[in-house]
Amino acid sequence: MDMQNRVGSKPGSGGVAGGSESNVARRERLRQLALETIDLAKDPYFMRNHLGSYECKLCLTLHTNEGSYLAHTQGKKHQTNLARRAAREAKDSATTGPDGKPRRSVIKVGRPGYEVTQIYDPVTRQRGILFHILYPEIGLDVVPRHRFMSAFEQHVEEPNKDYQYVVFAAEPYYTIAFKVPSREVDKQGDRFFTYWDPDLKKFTLQFQFKNERTLPSGRPGHFRQHDKQGSGAVNPLNPYQAPSIQPTYINK
Ligand SMILES: [Zn+2]
Repeated sequence: MDMQNRVGSKPGSGGVAGGSESNVARRERLRQLALETIDLAKDPYFMRNHLGSYECKLCLTLHTNEGSYLAHTQGKKHQTNLARRAAREAKDSATTGPDGKPRRSVIKVGRPGYEVTQIYDPVTRQRGILFHILYPEIGLDVVPRHRFMSAFEQHVEEPNKDYQYVVFAAEPYYTIAFKVPSREVDKQGDRFFTYWDPDLKKFTLQFQFKNERTLPSGRPGHFRQHDKQGSGAVNPLNPYQAPSIQPTYINK
């Protein structure tokens, strides 16, 4: 009987042992190479699963032992996936700014709505302003912010020391500022407050100016005599003889 022509063995192949041997040798060579170059503890794709075998989180392959995983990391599939991942990360990093932080990809939706009401407290004789800023399309979990900014801090208009700005900001809206007299704001008690209503999407800020003259008793002072005469002169204590309050847009 000619052994060479038995079913399952190809003529001249020399049997399966030779090929298998070189495969094992190849895998061992790759495993050794990987052992030298890869620290499994630091490999972000190496994972031991609850069944005690190993997975490549990048390629979603299963491996019965570390050696098998390491050989896989040297294979074409893993290397291709690594290259793809690197290309994607390079593309993503193109969207980060020069400081390495992600670029703000907020698309401005426009200017917020606003209502500005001038208020007067007849008891304290303080004048003030009530702002309602409307942000119907405000970003999720965004709470509007506000601050007072001096005329010299802003760079939108020529600075005028008689004015300051109340600035409101909330993504994805343009920042809006209102020019108000540069008088000291009274932060005591409920004369100054802010409130964000997330249901109505309305930010409220109310403040009152301090009266500029206070009697020694602590009672608020009166307007200066000439202010009562109706001379037509601009009353320096009354901001509302200033031009009506219109917003300035910080970032158009
Ligand atoms: Zn892999």
